Amino acid sequence: MKSELLCVNCGHQMLHTKLPKYVVNTYLLQPVVCLDVPVEKCPNCGEIYFPAEVAELFEEIRSECFEIRDKITMEIPACSLDLALAG
Ligand SMILES: [Zn+2]
Repeated sequence: MKSELLCVNCGHQMLHTKLPKYVVNTYLLQPVVCLDVPVEKCPNCGEIYFPAEVAELFEEIRSECFEIRDKITMEIPACSLDLALAG
């Protein structure tokens, strides 16, 4: 869906879309993954703009005033330096 906003970067018309996952780091550095985040995205250069109400929610999440109702499990890549250094 087309947005009325123009990209601040390249002037292209932005599109309403959703980010499947967006990580917000809280002030205590506990990352919170937000799912299905509504954004305006530039199809030309990939610039992303968060609507004001979304930015406000991020601020609540950062200051930990926001009630977290769910948890997800993610796999994060890991590597042992021991093996690499021994080789
Ligand atoms: Zn752009």
